[in-house]
Amino acid sequence: MALIPDAVPRRRATRQVAVRWGARCVQVGGDAPVRVQSMTNTDTVDAIGTAIQVKELAQAGSELVRITVNTPEAAAAVPAIREQLDRMGVDVPLIGDFHYNGHLLLTQYPQCAQALSKYRINPGNVGKGDKKDRQFAQMIEVAARWNKPVRIGVNWGSLDQELLAALMDANAARAQPRDAQQVMYEALITSALESAKRARDIGLPGDQILLSCKVSGVRDLIAVYRELSRRCDYALHLGLTEAGMGTKGTVASTAALAVLLQEGIGDTIRVSLTPAPGEARTQEVVVALEILQALGLRSFVPSVTACPGCGRTTSSVFQELAQDIDRHLRAHMPLWRAQYPGVEGLRVAVMGCIVNGPGESRHADIGISLPGTGEQPAAPVYIDGEKRYTLRGDGIAVQFIDIVNSYIEHRWGQQAAAD
Ligand code: SF4
Repeated sequence: MALIPDAVPRRRATRQVAVRWGARCVQVGGDAPVRVQSMTNTDTVDAIGTAIQVKELAQAGSELVRITVNTPEAAAAVPAIREQLDRMGVDVPLIGDFHYNGHLLLTQYPQCAQALSKYRINPGNVGKGDKKDRQFAQMIEVAARWNKPVRIGVNWGSLDQELLAALMDANAARAQPRDAQQVMYEALITSALESAKRARDIGLPGDQILLSCKVSGVRDLIAVYRELSRRCDYALHLGLTEAGMGTKGTVASTAALAVLLQEGIGDTIRVSLTPAPGEARTQEVVVALEILQALGLRSFVPSVTACPGCGRTTSSVFQELAQDIDRHLRAHMPLWRAQYPGVEGLRVAVMGCIVNGPGESRHADIGISLPGTGEQPAAPVYIDGEKRYTLRGDGIAVQFIDIVNSYIEHRWGQQAAAD
């Protein structure tokens, strides 16, 4: 029998970058886990509002949080945001997002430069003509002085037009010109790699540089990152820019990131979802965590396997139970993560009938198979593959949650005590 290779992707070798704040050090790249990032949508001038949203994003699981630094007032607010976070006990590193005036803000507001843990610089937005190199150099010099890593973040919406025009001209002069899309890919990658080389020439070490080349098309993103990762060993930040709203944004981001992550490409990810009015900003973090967990790259919360239901389920009991269990596990994770190390690996199954219920439940750590139409009104519960209980009556959800709680306490509480 032929051996089937392990499905868990192996990461491409990249340089490791340390993003620090105080005692907190988030390693990105190398053999570090793929990191989750997010970005606030508050006005950075509103230091308290921004700090609160950063805290929410960090509590949702974001390991790095980016904030816009677009005006002198925003730059002046950054140290206050950092102080507020420190007062709240939130040590997540902050990344400053700079466009157009970053050279001025980083040099004129040294406390801002110091309070940030990393800078994002867009080489398409650093200035034109002879100002471009000078202003880029000013930002890199600040980064080197404060020992801060930099992400050179290219975006096709703000691609360096002088570089693109030069590549277009060179392409037109070829005997067999490539199509415009290929030239655009090349311009994105060249902009990132040449900027990284310039940064190193100025004095920023290679292990202080991350790259990204964001586009909004799934297949474009995959093509660009495959080539980018082939040509360099910098840590790579992945994300589909302007992914969109709701299901569309979630599916597009997942499709693009899953292909690349499965090929071992990507050291940190962001899911750029547009929140619906009133929707929590933290949704982009939830999706990013789910992508990494679904790919088997990281575990953040216990997984609940639930069948989709069909004509054999005539009530919504099992849907409600699956939802209750999922909510219960997520709500307790902030506490359990510290109390029961390893609990994020728990697998729970909630199934709707006898067809796949007992089988799926046996594969989980704890599984319940609810009665389908015409079955006895009894719900067998399986623990570690063995049938242990049969639940009946109206209180099945409460009883099952109690069983899950005591399983966690028994399995991970004892382990924590022994450690
Ligand atoms: S386990 Fe039963 S209820 Fe669930 S989808 Fe399969 S057949 Fe339908």
